Amino acid sequence: MSRRDELARNLAAVEQRIGSACAAAGRARDEVTLVAVTKTWPASDAQLLGELGVTDLAENRDQEARAKAAVVTGVRWHFVGTLQTNKARSVAAYAHVVHSVDRPALVEALDAGAARAGRELDVLLQVSLDADPARGGALPADLAALADQVAGCDRLTLRGLMAVAPVGAEPAAAFARLQELHGRLRAVHPGMTVLSAGMSGDLEPAIAAGATHVRVGTAVLGHRATALR
Ligand SMILES: *Cc1c(COP(=O)(O)O)cnc(C)c1O
Repeated sequence: MSRRDELARNLAAVEQRIGSACAAAGRARDEVTLVAVTKTWPASDAQLLGELGVTDLAENRDQEARAKAAVVTGVRWHFVGTLQTNKARSVAAYAHVVHSVDRPALVEALDAGAARAGRELDVLLQVSLDADPARGGALPADLAALADQVAGCDRLTLRGLMAVAPVGAEPAAAFARLQELHGRLRAVHPGMTVLSAGMSGDLEPAIAAGATHVRVGTAVLGHRATALR
């Protein structure tokens, strides 16, 4: 089977899962966007996904993301990884959406980077549901101030909330908590319509809890060779 056929087959299976999850949750299919996470896979795969109709692609490391975004155009590039402040300027030059905004210094650096690049960025606040610093994310108690800060930035548009389900925990419970946090933020910032949650293993409970964007790597592209990513 060609790589194109393999990706098309995987996409059809993921589409089926998203469709079923939407139906089960009483939601319309068009409320959920598939963001395909191409990390570790070649730019040619990202290109094929674009040709197969995927509109949104994601990466979690600046260097790899920058290289792919330079060659695969006509899609929206999402940055989903923990982001060092000194990489913010680079990311601001090619990303359309940054999902991993979790601290004041990063907000400032992205706003400055976007201004420098003459661009605007959509921003999601990443919340930590398990307070594991290795995975990034702001503490729930810090979200309100961070949201106000982003809302006050010239070049950033506050679009929503993102989280990764804690390891070893029941995803449904974690996503229910996330949905509640999202609701509270939205009451203050109505533009925070995006909820980025759910990956290959847990997209169904995420959609049940209101996810508008699922970030799917393995189920679309296959198992990554690099153990820790
Ligand atoms: C890798 C990654 C994903 C995709 O994970 P899969 O389990 O391969 O679907 C989603 N979100 C983030 C932040 C990631 O780093």
